[in-house]
Amino acid sequence: MIDPRTYQPAANLLTDRVILITGASDGIGKAVAQAAAAHGATVLLHGRNVKKLEAVYDSIVAAKRPRPSIVPLDFEKAGPEEYEKLASALEQEFGRLDALLHNAGMLGERAPIEHHDIPKWMRTMHVNVTAPFILTRYCLPLLKRSADPSIVFTSSGVVARPRAYWGAYLASKWASDGLMRMLADELENRPTIRVNSIDPGKVRTKMRLQAYPAEDPETLPQPEAIVGPYLFLFGPDSRGVSGQTFACQ
Ligand code: NDP
Repeated sequence: MIDPRTYQPAANLLTDRVILITGASDGIGKAVAQAAAAHGATVLLHGRNVKKLEAVYDSIVAAKRPRPSIVPLDFEKAGPEEYEKLASALEQEFGRLDALLHNAGMLGERAPIEHHDIPKWMRTMHVNVTAPFILTRYCLPLLKRSADPSIVFTSSGVVARPRAYWGAYLASKWASDGLMRMLADELENRPTIRVNSIDPGKVRTKMRLQAYPAEDPETLPQPEAIVGPYLFLFGPDSRGVSGQTFACQ
């Protein structure tokens, strides 16, 4: 079995694949979107900040990759009907989805449970778990139209090593991994659809800096250095692999 951490993707690995990446405006999502486009995918760049998404879009067009699309939706504010509209728009334009990466996330508040702010807890659970659930629900018919569909959730080290004061973020990442495993099991009789998650490890992004303000960012890998496992799960080399969590480091 291939080790996704050292995966060497073929140049044309994702040619003609349509891949929706949430949180593609920054950090890991942006790097994964650029790498997937560099390997031939048409990437659908989801985020809430259109200016930032346009910058990612321009970088992909400037590199002469397949023309991406921008898919704006604020997970904190959107109601279910907006997700449904998004999925219908994708259906009209592309007819199918070959991969869906749930990467968008927020750190939320880190505080003892006794003092955790309740609205902040609810927002973090919503962005990190409920939004991926609603998006998956509406995108599954589109994924089922692909010959080789893949759904990827984003895990974290707090799942393997739960610890004090990580608040809703920790609970949300456990729930996200649970959702991934449940869905993999539900889709077991459709072996072409795989559902997995990725734990990126420590990566130099805005969220990492927010979580560890005293850490020297120079000691951390850039998002571009950890994209291998994502490309592995998007492409045909991961056929038949489902219900697993992969580490990037
Ligand atoms: P960033 O903060 O750099 O990026 C987070 C992305 O999510 C951004 O595109 C952000 O948009 C988007 N996002 C946040 N809130 C919303 C919202 N309400 N609606 C729509 N989009 C939203 O973080 P990372 O790249 O580090 O994180 C990516 C994923 O990796 C997360 O799921 C995180 O939990 C996980 N992870 C990261 C680790 C790390 O070391 N960096 C370690 C373990 C897991 P905007 O640009 O507008 O803020």
